[in-house]
Amino acid sequence: MLPLALRPPGRRALRVTCLGAHSDDIEIGCGGTLLALQAQGIKLEVRWVVLTAAGARATEARRGAARFLKGAQRAEVTLGAFRDGFLPFDGAAVKEFIEAHRRSGDEPDVVFTHFRHDRHQDHRLLSDLAWNTYRDQVVLEYEIPKWDGDLAVPNAFVPLPTAIAKRKVRHLQAVFATQRSKRWFTDETFMGLMRLRGIECGATDGYAEAFHARKLRLV
Ligand SMILES: [Zn+2]
Repeated sequence: MLPLALRPPGRRALRVTCLGAHSDDIEIGCGGTLLALQAQGIKLEVRWVVLTAAGARATEARRGAARFLKGAQRAEVTLGAFRDGFLPFDGAAVKEFIEAHRRSGDEPDVVFTHFRHDRHQDHRLLSDLAWNTYRDQVVLEYEIPKWDGDLAVPNAFVPLPTAIAKRKVRHLQAVFATQRSKRWFTDETFMGLMRLRGIECGATDGYAEAFHARKLRLV
């Protein structure tokens, strides 16, 4: 399979914007990919945006970003205080927040966001707004395993070395104390999904994260 690499154009760093509704979404969805890019020595400038991070979840969001972006050239964390579970009902304000954030920094090369058909209302809104807001970027929609059973068939894969997959899960368990009581928030959930995606893309070590790449322009 011909690999299409996530690489910066020219000598500058790869500019990445990560959008997450809640304080563990980015880490679960694309944390392994971010770790793998850094481990490969790729310079990253990351703008990390979490929409509903208040109180303890704000602390978790900052700790999560710090762990997953340790090797990044630049990391900027922006936290919103919108109400968890109610994002679509604050739609106008959320849209203005996302658009103002975009205007406040460099244009990204890649945007990671939620899957368009995610059944969580907060996730879905953020996916729609990403496509409204970013027209010149590679937009990759990540997956979040959950009760709703809404995983689909992804079409873009980032193979992960076993050590990176395990490091991702270690970070998740270390940072997200508020989620540990949830039955689904286990090592097996995260390793299992990465293992499945690894099988689907023939990853050497057997692990991968997967994305929905809805639109790609090839040169
Ligand atoms: Zn979420």
